[in-house]
Amino acid sequence: MHKDHITLHDAQRQVGKGWHELLLEAYRNKPKRVVIVEVKEKWGGLRITPSMADMAYYDLLDEIENRSLTICEVCGKPGKPTEPRGWIKTLCPEHAEAYAKGETLWE
Ligand SMILES: [Zn+2]
Repeated sequence: MHKDHITLHDAQRQVGKGWHELLLEAYRNKPKRVVIVEVKEKWGGLRITPSMADMAYYDLLDEIENRSLTICEVCGKPGKPTEPRGWIKTLCPEHAEAYAKGETLWE
């Protein structure tokens, strides 16, 4: 599958607002020659895939992914991975409850 480069604007549409700060950080610290080819939620975490990068940038992306597992994807408050409906989402207690009840998380 052909992979295009993902702009920050595109990236922000792939995941919830709670993680937009993390995306900003990833894009702000991105070396110029590095292209982001994929941004998605995977196993409850924020997965950002660069075309290629140096170790320092891979380390930052790993660190951001680890941090995303402690931040509600919806609102940005402290959260943790939860799995009430068959797949993992990282949510705060309030949004985890809404999610478990089947309410829509996204406005
Ligand atoms: Zn929340």
